[in-house]
Amino acid sequence: MRRIFIAGNWKMNGTAAEAKALAAGVAAQDNAFGGVEVAVCPPFVYLADVVAAVAGGPVGVGGQNAYFESSGAFTGEVSLGMLRDVGCSYVILGHSERRQIFGETDSLVNNKAHAAHTAGLTPIVCVGETLEEREAGQTLAVVKTQVNGSLAGLSAKQMKATVIAYEPVWAIGTGKVATPEQAQEVHADIRKLLTETFGADVAGVVRIQYGGSVKPDNAEELLGQADIDGALVGGASLKVESFIGIIEKAPQ
Ligand code: PEP
Repeated sequence: MRRIFIAGNWKMNGTAAEAKALAAGVAAQDNAFGGVEVAVCPPFVYLADVVAAVAGGPVGVGGQNAYFESSGAFTGEVSLGMLRDVGCSYVILGHSERRQIFGETDSLVNNKAHAAHTAGLTPIVCVGETLEEREAGQTLAVVKTQVNGSLAGLSAKQMKATVIAYEPVWAIGTGKVATPEQAQEVHADIRKLLTETFGADVAGVVRIQYGGSVKPDNAEELLGQADIDGALVGGASLKVESFIGIIEKAPQ
């Protein structure tokens, strides 16, 4: 009932030529998608090229961030409407790198989530604990604060059209993947939180992706968990073969 959604976060990698080739390479293998929803999120400056490279096919395109104001004196920022205008359908919000390196708060992410819906984009809202927080037994408390703060005030309709990515910070880009049991436990907790705030009918349809060193060889077990509805993939999304290899492991 929840369609598996696999998105690639290319971060700040690649050249224009590489971005076009990677997007075209993923698009060319759409016969491997089955029922899986697939998106790629290149750096801003390559968005238009990537949108052109996947045009007419099932691959969606997303931004990796945006600012919540619609226009004005915000030097260096890009609005959600601009992402929509250039052909995006998704936007990653509150990635741990944005939170840790650029100081993004739940309240800022919340403003962006509202603005994403206003612009007609699907936000992929990232949450996750650091290693210290996990070791201190604070995982649920941290994730609860992030989920409640980042999603506050969304309507039931908007919440249903929001994707959450649970990305334990200690598993991002480290090669350390959460075990399927560890990931499932937090995903189930997030769905419980959504049930408390938005009700069971909303919580039952919200897709919760797992992110953190997902690779073709660990994807099957992760994606087979009851509350894991897809993956946000960093490193392994930079090669057609490994990204498609993950998509192929999704349960149909
Ligand atoms: C990410 O950037 O969201 C991510 C999960 O990265 P990686 O797959 O490289 O750990």
